[in-house]
Formats: sequence, structure tokens, C-alpha cells
Amino acid sequence: MTGIIHAAADLLLGGRCPGCGTPGWRLCAPCRGVLGAPVPGFVRRDPSPPLFPVTVAGADYEPILRRVLTAFKEDQVLSAGPLLGQRLGLAVAVLLARQGRAGEVYQLVPMPSVAAAIRRRGLDCTRALARTAARFLAGHAGLRVPVAALLRHRGAVIDQAGLAAAERWQNLAGALVARAGPPGRTAILVDDVTTTGATLAEAHRALLAAGVPVLGAAVVAATVRRSPGRGALAIEQGGGAPHQVPDEAGPAAAPGPRSRGP
Ligand SMILES: [Zn+2]
Repeated sequence: MTGIIHAAADLLLGGRCPGCGTPGWRLCAPCRGVLGAPVPGFVRRDPSPPLFPVTVAGADYEPILRRVLTAFKEDQVLSAGPLLGQRLGLAVAVLLARQGRAGEVYQLVPMPSVAAAIRRRGLDCTRALARTAARFLAGHAGLRVPVAALLRHRGAVIDQAGLAAAERWQNLAGALVARAGPPGRTAILVDDVTTTGATLAEAHRALLAAGVPVLGAAVVAATVRRSPGRGALAIEQGGGAPHQVPDEAGPAAAPGPRSRGP
């Protein structure tokens, strides 16, 4: 029955699964299975930009996820939003479980989208994913982590494409500015994808400068290189040549709970 509906949708709407192109009007079951499977893991960057926050990724940035995310952002395939937002929510949950401190109040702070991109897409995609993640956390874990858009771009942003990691850090230094927002809340940065980590590091700097404490970051996906024999997210050098993933890059190397200090 579903097959007939999908075939009809393809005939009438030209619908395709954004992950694999199979006719249908939303993400097909196999693609949903692939995207729903990964266990979120900690991301490490080598080289790591200064102030790169503790970051959990909901998945690695593999081809199906890449196509689905692009479809969501650039082609307004809004049916992909719930699954992507759920990956983000799972990443937030892992970050909170491993790094969170009892009694603290947290908020999701989305990375700001460029105004031109919001106009073109008719949607602030990162903020929309943050909202979906917040709903997921409230509905499935009873966690109330509201979304607070505290960050904005200070001025025009130069395109990051084609820049090496160190050049990206320099290009981005001071690019974001934050407002303090509601007092007594700790920020969890959220973004769709992290590559070199430079944007998250800059957001971390901007929030600290505004007096907002930051627990870490959660992303839908991270560019990673999987270590053979391990399912965990490992690291990839931003824009650099492929390299050996060090032995300790598995889940065992994930940072433990932070010391609470005196
Ligand atoms: Zn598919």
C-alpha cells in the first residue's frame, strides 16, 4: 500500500527520498534506518582550534546524511527535519549525561545563520533543528532545554570554503558577538555540521566574552574518519590529508565528567 502511495506521489509530485533518490514523498525506510542507527560520539579535532568546546556529534557526515541535510537546508525538504533534529537531540542528551552538572540550567544556543541564507531558504535551519531537538528532549527525556538565539554575526562573513584550518580560525576570530540572555543559564552550542571546529570555537569565545558559561557543543553530524574495528566517532584533520586515527580516539578517550573545582 505504501509503495502505491509513494509511486503516486512520484507521479504527481516527482517526489524522491532525499537520501537515496528512491521515488517517494519522504525519507525511505532504509535511509531512516541508516540515519537513525549511529550512537552519538565525542568529536576531536586535530589540530584543535583554541577554545574548541567539548563536542558530541549525532552521526558522522556520511553521504546519505549529507544529502538529507542538503535537501533540508537547500531544497526545503522539511520532512527531513524531525530525524535530523532527533540526531541533534540525542547528541545533546549524551553531552548532558557525560558532562552535565546537577542543578545547572541549560539552554540550546544555535549557531547563527547568515541573513542571506535565511532569506534564500525561508527558514533559519539551525534554529529550526535546535527547536526540534528541544522538543525531542522534552518529549523523550523530560529535559527542558529551551532554545536561546544569543549569537549573531558581527559583520559580513567571508566564505570559509577553500581555506585551511589555521586560515579559518583567523578569518573567524571576532566574527560572532553574543548577548548575555537570561541569567543563570549555561549554553550548549548547537549546529548542523562541524568540520574544522573553528565556528564552534569562535561561538564559544563570543559567549564567554558575554559572560555566558558554555558546557559544550552538540551537532547533527561531524566530518570524521572511522577507526577500523570501532564504531565510535573519531577525528579528522580539517581540510588536511587523511591520517591515522590514534588508538585512543575511541569512546574510551571521550572526556570524562569535568571536575567541579573547589
Ligand atoms: Zn532513501
